[in-house]
Amino acid sequence: MDTRKRRRKSSNVRFALVWTAVLVTSLIGIDIAHFGSVPAWAKGVRRYFLKGPAICIDAGHGGEDAGASSGGQIEKEQTLRIAQLVEDDLESDGIRVIMTRDDDSTTSLESRVQTANDAGALGFVSIHRNMYNGTKTDVKGVEIWTSHDAGEAETDLARLVLEHLTETGYITSRGIKGGSMDDPETDYYVIRNTQMPSILIELGFLSSEDDRAMVEEYADVTARAIADGIEDWMNEQTETESSR
Ligand SMILES: [Zn+2]
Repeated sequence: MDTRKRRRKSSNVRFALVWTAVLVTSLIGIDIAHFGSVPAWAKGVRRYFLKGPAICIDAGHGGEDAGASSGGQIEKEQTLRIAQLVEDDLESDGIRVIMTRDDDSTTSLESRVQTANDAGALGFVSIHRNMYNGTKTDVKGVEIWTSHDAGEAETDLARLVLEHLTETGYITSRGIKGGSMDDPETDYYVIRNTQMPSILIELGFLSSEDDRAMVEEYADVTARAIADGIEDWMNEQTETESSR
């Protein structure tokens, strides 16, 4: 091949590359305009290029296990919706996310723990919704559970997520709690068995009208607050690690 031909060939390749990029970019644009979020295939491409420490996001319940329900709301659906919004926020910011479930499949507690441990995730965040069946009318707010003997990193993760959630202005904090509802000395299964700092967010009560708004009308803001808390924590953790 003579030089002129080679030059023409390389400019053809460049031309094709530029137009492919323009086409892909506009396809993503059209998809976002139509569906309001990044399409699954583009997420797949983005995910492929993400490197570095990962966070494990656990959408509580799923499949045959619906979790709590009240007034047409089903816990397993809301936990997945919020978890996927958090996933999207984190991945857009370049953070690798491991999901314990990404659809409505029955997922055992053992498999959730195994997913997090096998991935060597830096942290584990489980998302649930609370339920109150008593006679009081004002039971609402977010509480975050940690291990009963939580170390500094785990408490920090809970604190940062709760801080960002309360900063939104429409979420009442019920504080950080250790152990579990039944026993302050016995941790929830996923917290007890994951090898990394782990928290369980009870994202408000299905039985509270205010809390329902948090996961319905303000789902985007709520998810963004959780993602911001996680990002602050991951920055803190990786800084501590690299300064060691
Ligand atoms: Zn639950």
